[in-house]
Amino acid sequence: MTQTITVIRGDGIGPEIMDATLHVLDSMNLGLQYEFADAGLAALEKQGELLPQATMDSIRKNRIALKSPLTTPVGEGFSSINVELRKRFDLYANVRPAKSFPNTKSRFPSGVDLITVRENTEGAYIGEGQALSADGEVATLTQRVTRRGSERIVRYAFDLARRIGRKKVTIVHKANILKSTSGLFLKTARAVAAEYPDIECNEMIVDNTCMQLVMRPEQFDVIVTTNLFGDIISDLCAGLVGGLGLAPGANIGTDAAIFEAVHGTAPDIAGQGKANPCALLLGAAQMLDHLGMPEKAAKLRAAIIATLEAKDSLTPDLGGTGNTMSFAKAIASRI
Ligand code: NAD
Repeated sequence: MTQTITVIRGDGIGPEIMDATLHVLDSMNLGLQYEFADAGLAALEKQGELLPQATMDSIRKNRIALKSPLTTPVGEGFSSINVELRKRFDLYANVRPAKSFPNTKSRFPSGVDLITVRENTEGAYIGEGQALSADGEVATLTQRVTRRGSERIVRYAFDLARRIGRKKVTIVHKANILKSTSGLFLKTARAVAAEYPDIECNEMIVDNTCMQLVMRPEQFDVIVTTNLFGDIISDLCAGLVGGLGLAPGANIGTDAAIFEAVHGTAPDIAGQGKANPCALLLGAAQMLDHLGMPEKAAKLRAAIIATLEAKDSLTPDLGGTGNTMSFAKAIASRI
């Protein structure tokens, strides 16, 4: 069966890493068809807007998008196109795996294999009710957490754990201080956890979680938390395993899902063939899992690991002398 996906080549290093990623996907005979759509600076230049209706329509129709990083120019209406996409498609679950890989500049070359499931649509991160008093002395922000939002993200985390054979979910919160918002999240999470007796569950306060992640990351399996805490924790986790070049992310909603690299457009190396395509490739592996092709996803991950182990054509961020496409070709040759 053919599956059409929306492909957004993006800005900066975006087109380079997307071409490399599609080269690898093409070598796998997945039956995927690509519908290219623009967003970000590329869309502004071609079509006069950052998020054209045709792109929205394409994602709505195909329900799956693979997206390179985007530039959101200052003063163009959105604070971030990525946040806007999450809002418009209600992509409530942000799923970020962090796994140790060989031959990376990581403090944990082995032992880390965790997934952060971050609530993506509410809480302090979305900047609701931001205001500055007329004298510029007092700034405020509304932090709104709902039972529905908490329930669906925690349920997503437990369902994910069950589906992919994970053993434990850690609920990360700050309910001791933020008694209303984090308190509601924790109370709701406990109720959901009780429905999954087959999955071990523990609770951890966010500041302690950060310390524990740095000292003993191997104790974590799946972490579920609210938006802002998840934003910070997932970058911390990316740092544990060697940085942004290896960190993918999925934004999942009921009607659509967008798969991406966590990093940005890297303007400092754009157009030079230096960008590491692995983060987007690992995002593509998450997409294959989501599309019901877990064995293909596993194959793709294994080819990436084998290429890292062989130090074959690695990009400069990994200490190699290869380039974006030679790295991708080395991965494709191992599939
Ligand atoms: P960045 O992630 O683009 O770059 C940070 C550093 O990491 C740079 O030194 C860069 O060269 C390096 N880097 C990033 N990805 C790499 C890769 N694949 N291979 C090798 N090195 C890589 O972060 P930034 O510089 O803060 O942001 C640049 C732009 O990206 C901004 O306009 C920002 O808004 C945008 N951005 C977009 C997204 C997205 O669309 N998902 C996410 C973050 C930032």
